[in-house]
Amino acid sequence: MSESLWRRNDLPAAEISAELFERMHDGVALYDSRSRLVGWNQAAATISGWQHDEASTRLDPQQRDGLAELSPGRWVDLRRITFQHGEEHYVGLLFSDARTHVALQAAYAKLNQLATTDPLTGLPNRLLAQDRLRLSLAMARRDDRCVAVLFIDLDRFKAANDTMGHHVGDRVLKEVADRLSRVVRESDTAARVGGDEFMVILHTLADESGAVRVAESILEALSVPIVIDGRTVPIGSSIGIALAPRHGDDPETLIRHADLAMYRAKASGGHTVRVYWPGMSDLSQDRLELTMDLAGALERDELEVHYQPQTDADTGMVVGAEALVRWRHPRAGLIPPDAFLPLAEENGTIEDIDRWVLRTACRQAAQWREEGLQLPLLSVNLSTRSVVHANAAAMVADALESSGLPAACLEVEVSETTLVAHRVEASRSVARIKDLGVRIAVDHFGATSSSLGSLTRLPLDTLKLDRSFVVDAIDNPEPADMAVLRAIVQMTEDLQVRCVAEGVELPAQLKFLRFLRCHVMQGFLYSRPLPANDMEALLTPLVGASA
Ligand code: C2E
Ligand code: MG
Repeated sequence: MSESLWRRNDLPAAEISAELFERMHDGVALYDSRSRLVGWNQAAATISGWQHDEASTRLDPQQRDGLAELSPGRWVDLRRITFQHGEEHYVGLLFSDARTHVALQAAYAKLNQLATTDPLTGLPNRLLAQDRLRLSLAMARRDDRCVAVLFIDLDRFKAANDTMGHHVGDRVLKEVADRLSRVVRESDTAARVGGDEFMVILHTLADESGAVRVAESILEALSVPIVIDGRTVPIGSSIGIALAPRHGDDPETLIRHADLAMYRAKASGGHTVRVYWPGMSDLSQDRLELTMDLAGALERDELEVHYQPQTDADTGMVVGAEALVRWRHPRAGLIPPDAFLPLAEENGTIEDIDRWVLRTACRQAAQWREEGLQLPLLSVNLSTRSVVHANAAAMVADALESSGLPAACLEVEVSETTLVAHRVEASRSVARIKDLGVRIAVDHFGATSSSLGSLTRLPLDTLKLDRSFVVDAIDNPEPADMAVLRAIVQMTEDLQVRCVAEGVELPAQLKFLRFLRCHVMQGFLYSRPLPANDMEALLTPLVGASA
């Protein structure tokens, strides 16, 4: 009640207060100085059940300010007031337990919500997500189920936030939250756990492969550019997965491992999913164990070759495929090459791996040809060590001979850094491979400072534009970079070198590359690397082939 109302002498204060007194939703009672009940409003009657003849109701005379129990479950909160002529009375605010209970419940719920919900997106925050995970783990142990933690970090969010402003950033985060909520089931948890970090908990998983499927759906949902006020905000995501009980059975460990896997996904260029495996932590013990495992991986037949199509953007035809190695580790699951090839480089196993991949991929390509399936070109990567220190040409010749694949159908990829850093040895090795009739591709072109001049002197057939080159040119369109990119593509045209764009993920990138007149695309927009069977389904039969 505003004090000024009472100060206005022209207003009939007594009538106003009587009216307010009656209409109040709170129960109010008035006691005289001897603790006798002298008046009460309608709400007080409802709470207390007082009838007209309650005048004899007295409070304990000891009771002055503070709480007093009127009857079981009914309370009065007393305040002493002294009237102008000195008489003392007590005004009491009445409430029943039920009312207090409901009010308190609502207040606690509100407080709880504030403490456990992210105010921007309305998603649970880290605290609540951790709590739910703890509960879920306890139940999973009982029911012998798996639980998955997906740690999601947005790619390119910081750039969007910095250049387009925080209000755009906020709307992007809200949209991401909406998309996540649409992809995961209602029974699972999607939470925002940091600035541009989200977490998804899959509470009931029958088997672990389900987690990767959900992660890939999220990746796809978040790769669709977000449009805000007519402006396109290109966002992507990197996702790390940790599974219980295999990778830990308490929330802290699982979240740490999923986070680590997410970092690995980011480190390998983003827009990808990585499942945690022990070698990811850089503890030397883990590395040692993994290096020891790697030594026997080939004999135990644990390596696999996947194939990623290269597509002609004009015709939509698959014009080639890159062979990419994976390690199916018995405990850690499928390990990507970035995670074990550096170890293999260190201990020398890399030469055996390159030899095995060459043989396996050439045999597969030859088989497809025999079945009448069209794969004009197979690309295989060669490591620095194989190119510089081993007899790479002999490895290639051996693979061609044992498979029967025509040399013209094979291309070997040597990274630009190898060609530049080991110019003499690499040129010699490349020339020998070229003499076999095999094509040469320069891989990861533009990832480091490009040395166009020295490359033009090599017998190159293909130039693979590194993913970062294309992403940078689109994200930060600097005229100078664009000019360099244009000049490179122009140069490949003049020299009749095939130009392949790597890591094409977005239609905008495709459009830009076609505008530059680069026509062969390799990237998730078309397909991820696939096991041989799935790749086979993409190959078209040669016209007139019998198979
Ligand atoms: P790379 O030669 O540049 O191969 C392409 C890599 O880019 C692959 O990663 C592929 O999965 C990834 N990629 C393809 N499209 C996209 C896309 O749209 N977005 C993103 N973010 N990534 C995309 P992967 O299979 O993990 O291979 C990593 C690297 O490991 C390869 O890079 C290659 O340098 C090396 N590698 C793979 N297999 C072999 C092998 O058999 N021998 C040797 N020596 N190196 C290999
Ligand atoms: Mg490559």
